[in-house]
Amino acid sequence: MVRAATRTQAAPGIPLSNSAFETIIDAFHGCLTRMDPAGGDIWRTPPVVARALITEVGYGEYFPHLLGSVHVAAESGEISPTDLVLLPAGCYCIYPHYRGRTLMTPVDVGVEAICFRQESSHEVGRLRSFRMREFVHLDTELGCFGWRDEWLNRAEAWLSAIGLAPVRELASDPFFGAQRKVLAAMQRDQALKWELVVEVGPGIRQAVMSGNVHKTKFGDTFNITGPGGEAIHSACAAFGSDRLALALIHTHGPDPSAWPDTVRAQLILGGFA
Ligand code: ATP
Ligand code: ZN
Repeated sequence: MVRAATRTQAAPGIPLSNSAFETIIDAFHGCLTRMDPAGGDIWRTPPVVARALITEVGYGEYFPHLLGSVHVAAESGEISPTDLVLLPAGCYCIYPHYRGRTLMTPVDVGVEAICFRQESSHEVGRLRSFRMREFVHLDTELGCFGWRDEWLNRAEAWLSAIGLAPVRELASDPFFGAQRKVLAAMQRDQALKWELVVEVGPGIRQAVMSGNVHKTKFGDTFNITGPGGEAIHSACAAFGSDRLALALIHTHGPDPSAWPDTVRAQLILGGFA
């Protein structure tokens, strides 16, 4: 029996994982690739990203409490920030590649990212270092809402099929500062963010997927336009890989070879005898 497991390092929310745990993550990523109707390319990110990009998308302004930064010592010994920060989400790496372009047809791109957020990490599943698999879509407003809703439907059906009983909830991002309530209310009023929430530990419910539309935020920031010269809209479907694996282990146990056949078949978990 190979038990899938993680171990917490001295710093909370920074887990080590064993090979059985990684096999679950690989199986999950394989499912997502097969589920993606666009069949687009999937880019992998390093765990760091240009500070200038994260500033440009406003992350430092809206979520400074979550952002990690790379500092190093100069020859003098003085420690100062570098041009890099820790990547907080995968899709930020995608938009700048379309900077200044006019898109004649919708664009679909996948991205697999190692993310960092300075979370409290007091709960299982609320990590500081975690992996995120995202699909990104650039299109009209109608196209982006439709695409996002289709991903929510697809993901909900799939999560049900692997026994995780997802619940769809309207959500908002954890904005910082005095404006946080106003920004969150605006996001909810316009139904910009939905999450699929499952149980990841005893009595602990967390989102394993979010479906987001950004209106023209990234189109405006990077001057990306549609065929008529109007700013492009964008959407992303984001899955938390580590959280999903934790939810599966919580629901079906640490030994994937003992999981129900239907779940193993969905995940194509042939590797566990
Ligand atoms: P939450 O609702 O848990 O605070 P979020 O709204 O900040 O998450 P998104 O920015 O939508 O999350 O990220 C997409 C997905 O990445 C989430 O649905 C979740 O599965 C995963 N994720 C986000 N934050 C974490 C974290 N701290 N630890 C593990 N997975 C995470
Ligand atoms: Zn995103």
